[in-house]
This record gives sequence, C-alpha cells and structure tokens, in this order.
Amino acid sequence: MRFTFKGGTHVNEYKNTAACAVRVADAPQTVAIPLSQHIGAHAKPTVEVGERVLVGQIIGEVAEGLGCPVHSSVSGTVKEIKSINNAQGVPMQSVVIENDGQNELSPDVCPRDRVPEDCSGEEIVEIVREAGISGMGGATFPTYAKLRGALGRTQHMIVNCAECEPFITANHRLMLEEPETLLLGVRVLLCALGLDEATVAIEDNKMDAVKTLEEIVRTRGEELLGGKRVTIAVMKTKYPQGDERQLIYALMKKEIPAGKLPVDVGCIIFNAETCAAVKRAFFDGMPLISRRVTVDGDCIAQPGNLLAPVGMSYANLAQECGGFVKIPEKVINGGPMMGAAQWDLEGSVTKGTSAVLFLSEDFVRPTLNHSACIHCGRCANRCPMHLMPFELTDLARKRQFDEALKYDIMSCVECGSCSYGCPAGVEIVQYIRAAKGAIRQKQAAERAKDAQKK
Ligand code: SF4
Ligand code: SF4
Repeated sequence: MRFTFKGGTHVNEYKNTAACAVRVADAPQTVAIPLSQHIGAHAKPTVEVGERVLVGQIIGEVAEGLGCPVHSSVSGTVKEIKSINNAQGVPMQSVVIENDGQNELSPDVCPRDRVPEDCSGEEIVEIVREAGISGMGGATFPTYAKLRGALGRTQHMIVNCAECEPFITANHRLMLEEPETLLLGVRVLLCALGLDEATVAIEDNKMDAVKTLEEIVRTRGEELLGGKRVTIAVMKTKYPQGDERQLIYALMKKEIPAGKLPVDVGCIIFNAETCAAVKRAFFDGMPLISRRVTVDGDCIAQPGNLLAPVGMSYANLAQECGGFVKIPEKVINGGPMMGAAQWDLEGSVTKGTSAVLFLSEDFVRPTLNHSACIHCGRCANRCPMHLMPFELTDLARKRQFDEALKYDIMSCVECGSCSYGCPAGVEIVQYIRAAKGAIRQKQAAERAKDAQKK
C-alpha cells in the first residue's frame, strides 16, 4: 500500500545525486557562522574578535525566549563579527572564524555514558537545546521547543524522510549510509516523548532506503531501538508529500485545523537529519555543527552530497564539487520549489541548508507566455491545502488583504504546486507570499498599537 494525500503535483525529480555517497568536505580556510539559524530570538556572540575557539564550542547564545545556541564548526581564531545577508536576504550578524586546520575539539564535547531510557523528557529536551538543534528540513524551528511542547500531548511520532523536493538526496543518503544513526536518534526522541513506536515515512522513489531500513530494523532493531518499534511507511512520490499536514493526512487521515499544529492532533514530526543530529547530541555530546548538503545543478562539474561544516560558503561548496562548468544564473539555498534564491556566493551553509543548487540560464529560462489567468482551475486542483490560488492571487494583486484572509490565505504553505505548470505563467506563490508578509506586518503593527493603549 502507498500512502498519499489529495492535491499536489508530480514534478521532475532530478535526483541526480541519489547514488553519490556523502563525502566529508575539506574544511575551508574561513567559515562565516550566522548567529541566527533558527526561528526565534537572535543569539548574541559569546566570543570576541581575536579569541581562539574550538570545534563544538559555543560562540553564540540566546539568553531569553525561543532560540538556539550556536557552536563553532572549526578550531581557529575569530577574525571578525559582521553582518552578512542570510538565505532570506536579511542582514545577520555572523562570526567569521579563520580555520587553523587543527580540528581541535572543545572539552565540552564528550560522549554521554547514559542511555535515553534513564533520562526524563525534560533532561532530553535540555540536551537537544544545548546542542543547538533546529529543524533541519528547512523550517528551522528549535527542536527542543517542539519537543517540550509535545511532552504528554503526543500519541504519534513520524520521521519525515519523504524528501519530495527535486534534486535533494541528502536524507536518502543518510538512510542508506547511516541507518543506525537515524534509528538511535528516533529512540532518543521516542524516550523523551514516552512513546513506544515511530513511523518512518519514505517516498517510493527511494525503495533502496526502504529495504535498508526494513532490514536493519529486522536484524538490529532490538539492539538499536532499546525495545522501541519503528514501522516503515511507503508514500506515493508526489509533491509536497514532505509537508507536515500532507504527511499526517496521508498516514492517519487526520486534518489539522487552520492555525493549529500537528501536536494539536496528537502528532509530532521530525526530519531525518534532525533525528541524526539528536543521536549525535545525546550519545556523542556533539552539537549541531555540520550537515549533509546536496550540491547540484547544471553549473556544477561534479554534483554530489557533502558533509559540510556550518558556515562553509557557497563558493567553497562549489569548489569542493569541481567548480563551475557554466556561469550560474541562479543559486538556490534549498530545493527549487521552496528554496530561496541567493544574491551572491558569500552566503553559507546553515543548520537548515539541505541543498545548494547552481543553475544556468538554460535551466531557469523564465516562462515566456505570461498572460492573464485563463481560469483553467489547475492551480486549485493541485493545491494540497484546498485553497483557491487564482482567487488569492487576484486579491493579493489588489492588496485586498481582509478579503484574502477570509479566503484563508494564511493557510498557504507556499509549496509552489500552483505556480508549477500554470499555463498562463502567473507567479501565484510569489503574490501570495508577498501578501502574507504584508498581512503579518499589518497585524504586528496593530498588536503594537493595542499594547501602547493598555
Ligand atoms: S493555473 Fe494559472 S491560469 Fe489556471 S486558474 Fe490557476 S492561475 Fe489561472
Ligand atoms: S496556494 Fe499555497 S498551498 Fe496552495 S498550491 Fe499554492 S503555494 Fe501551495
């Protein structure tokens, strides 16, 4: 049986790097580590220019509120702390470290000789917080906060290995190469939540990963999972299967009401790479300082999967993959459907970077047949959130935001299924995204005004 959801679209997969084993990237001469790679308050630097830092040492901390600490991915000297545009184009304070090549580990990084079964949920939450883990599928919500909010409120844990965006194969390689790491991370998270079983959701374009995981669960499940259970669910390959709401619907036929979260229907979802980071944090005492990144696109000489340190620049990633064979017209942090186009090659790998794509103008040639909407209804058929994208686009264009709210514009997950293949070339998701931003700004201004009155 193949699980699936209503709506969505079949996109060209371009999984060119599915057979490319992960290579450890040569650590670059310098890394630029942004002090905010998560949703929430920005971290403040805890190091000064000229100071020596070690691998895994904290270099930024969030004193209050939601947020994650930030750690050094290399050993070396802090060269400067300066503002660099993040993947969304927002200037972000970053710690630039000159790598001394010694890879000297911080004494704070030491393996834990406890098993997760002996820890309380709150203890595991704190370990995850200290390791600076935020959602590695791209959402970047602090994992400790997600976990804490779900303690005592969750009956089902899902591991998101759908990896439905074109090009990206980092999770696929993790499942093939380090299934033990993945399962150990799942065990830690299950222990924190007090659950006995998790479902690992994998799209059916990765049947080798399905077989690998089924085999390891059968042969070593007892040892790795400490008595917990894992079921593998095979999902139909369809975009955006990896969206949390679609996964929950596909597996459990539950719909999450607008404005609510998976935990409100008793579910919690973790990305595969996040589970691996939890394993390293719990068992090895290693904070989140590197991640698997797919480097692909028709400009790259040797596309592949790299284990890259956080803070490695896009330019260094490209160099590590043989350099350019064509001039990139577009550089995307993430997948082509939901990723963000970049301004230059100075930006760097962060905790949420699953891929960096370098695409030439042959690949990103703009749609030439822009015209008015012809009301074909394709976008509505494809929308996994059952919205009316053509109507929302029209309202967004006219800046009729109150009306757009009535049409539930805020439920749009910005998956881009509507824009993909619109015969009129309407840039639907761009209009909707801009309108959502304007609505949020307006709502924040109204809240500030109300607060002043009180
Ligand atoms: S797919 Fe494009 S042309 Fe068709 S209804 Fe939607 S916006 Fe209009
Ligand atoms: S309206 Fe939003 S949720 Fe619906 S298909 Fe378009 S981008 Fe996806």
